[in-house]
Amino acid sequence: MTQLNVPSLPISSLHIRLIGVIGAGQMGNGIAQVIAAGGFQVRLLDVSEAALAKGMATIERNLDRLATRGKIAAGDRAAILSRIAAGTDYAVFAEADLVIEAASENESVKKAIFAKLCPVLKAEAMIASNTSSLSITRLGAATDRPAKFMGMHFMNPVPAMALVELIRGIATGEETFATVRDLVVRLGKTAVIAEDFPAFIVNRVLVPMINEAVYALYEGVGSVQGIDTAMKLGANHPMGPLELGDFIGLDTCLSIMQVLYEGLSDSKYRPCPLLVKYVEAGWLGRKAGRGFYDYTVNPPRPTR
Ligand code: NAD
Repeated sequence: MTQLNVPSLPISSLHIRLIGVIGAGQMGNGIAQVIAAGGFQVRLLDVSEAALAKGMATIERNLDRLATRGKIAAGDRAAILSRIAAGTDYAVFAEADLVIEAASENESVKKAIFAKLCPVLKAEAMIASNTSSLSITRLGAATDRPAKFMGMHFMNPVPAMALVELIRGIATGEETFATVRDLVVRLGKTAVIAEDFPAFIVNRVLVPMINEAVYALYEGVGSVQGIDTAMKLGANHPMGPLELGDFIGLDTCLSIMQVLYEGLSDSKYRPCPLLVKYVEAGWLGRKAGRGFYDYTVNPPRPTR
């Protein structure tokens, strides 16, 4: 693993056995899958049984694909699934050593989750947030354990992406940080450390590019297909920026731009009005069946 700016500390994550994941959406189900594949017991929580069923179905589909490609043995599929228990009651976290919050990118939603989570946790349990942009210091202050709280930012899709950004809040203790860093290694991922600034590293660079692509569309510089083809062939990006925005979720992209705009007080981060309109329309991208592309047809068709 690449470790940047970190002295090695003799702290390991070997005592971690049970990990909670809150939110079974695109990130939460991926995190649950990767953690269960790493041999840990997982408790996955969401607001509804329907959201959990959808998340579990995604995990099963992903594991089927890995088994078909020979990347995991047939027996591994059953073993990984047997390590994940899904539920809607916070009591499932009573024995958790670490809980990773991966619910919607909304500060009040996350704070309300911590208010329910903290009272059921063991005193020594740690909490990590997968937030893409919110202040880790502020989120940590909303818990009863800021020293045991940090940012653990997985990339989408979690099983395929090697990076996890690790973010300390001002109160994060070194033991917590070193334990989570060690866990990232055990999950086979690479950690990069980002300071607690809005959107950290990857999204500070990536999401303004997506927002700029939406401006290019809004101003008529190019069509959806033109902008995406230009960036794929002209900048060698594997996905065009609008396709990538749909993949991340346009609601998530908009909240990241709002956090950058407000957090850095710089007008260069203003969200494109067209991005705002798409989110208001519920055209959130791939997960909603429609964003800059229509995903109800195969291959997806540009919507502008
Ligand atoms: P998503 O919309 O796919 O899933 C969010 C899930 O949270 C949903 O299943 C929803 O039901 C659940 N949820 C909402 N309120 C809840 C509550 N009160 N209690 C429990 N569950 C609740 O979103 P996502 O893309 O998985 O994003 C989740 C988090 O991960 C966000 O903080 C986001 O910024 C971050 N993230 C997203 C990406 C990405 O590319 N989408 C990448 C890295 C990090």
